[in-house]
Amino acid sequence: IFDEFSIKTLIRPVPDFPKPGVVFRDITPLFQSPRALRMVADSFIQRYVEADFSHIGALDARGFLIGSIIAYELNKPLILFRKQGKLPADVLSASYCTEYGEAYLEVHADSLCEGDSILMFDDLIATGGTLLAAAQLVRRMGARIHEAAAIIDLPELDGSRKLQDAGIPTFTLTAFA
Ligand code: 5GP
Repeated sequence: IFDEFSIKTLIRPVPDFPKPGVVFRDITPLFQSPRALRMVADSFIQRYVEADFSHIGALDARGFLIGSIIAYELNKPLILFRKQGKLPADVLSASYCTEYGEAYLEVHADSLCEGDSILMFDDLIATGGTLLAAAQLVRRMGARIHEAAAIIDLPELDGSRKLQDAGIPTFTLTAFA
């Protein structure tokens, strides 16, 4: 069974990282606990095992960790959304702003087709900028987002609301105010 309290205790707050005033939510302790990681993975698997979508998308870099576990378990094709300059073949690119500044997100241009629907994974939703950029890329390929899933929501940064407003359902396992 899912125990949100024990998940939360394994997410370490790191003050003033990567810059003063930001409390970074560090998920490395969660990944060091096999029991907790299994609980997180099983929660997502339970939610999506019967859902109707064609692909799983994972966001660079911590989204890769959880997205690949779920893609393996649900036997779905896995699409990597990467930071600029990492993908070798032809890419589509979208700019976005995070808590920390401007960046570019890229995906291989041939990774989705019209009519595909993709379940997106990241570790955390803050401003929603990264997932909104991913949504732009998905839509440019004629596909749609089934849902955006993450371990953690930071509701004060309003990202999950912005995503819902943009027609992207969100699902998170826990939140920090
Ligand atoms: P957003 O685009 O929603 O503003 O920021 C979310 C992205 O930034 C995610 O890819 C996430 O990995 C990263 N991120 C921002 N803040 C944090 C944080 O406090 N902890 C972790 N683990 N990732 C963060």
